[in-house]
Amino acid sequence: MHYTYCPNCGKKLTTILAGDDGMVPYCAKCNKRWFDSFQSCVIVLVYNEFDEIVLSKQWYFPDDYTSLTSGFITPGENAEECAIREVKEELGLNVVRAQQLITTDIY
Ligand SMILES: [Zn+2]
Repeated sequence: MHYTYCPNCGKKLTTILAGDDGMVPYCAKCNKRWFDSFQSCVIVLVYNEFDEIVLSKQWYFPDDYTSLTSGFITPGENAEECAIREVKEELGLNVVRAQQLITTDIY
């Protein structure tokens, strides 16, 4: 789905630069980016050889919130490729090995 109007307030969206995702629909009134939505996404548990995991904060999270790395699968991309890309984009880390644990389709 591509958003033209804000699902929260109904205002016509403009666009805003969202890092590596490029220009995305944006509502200035709600201060919210409305990424094109797809039905598939990944949530990535990143850990190192010491079993230390990575939690990150995003600018749009409330103060105390942290999260695993996640993102939407883009057309032509599989889950593993998406996970590797999101880890690079959000954490600046290169994935050494990716393993898919769960697949769920949402309709
Ligand atoms: Zn809005």
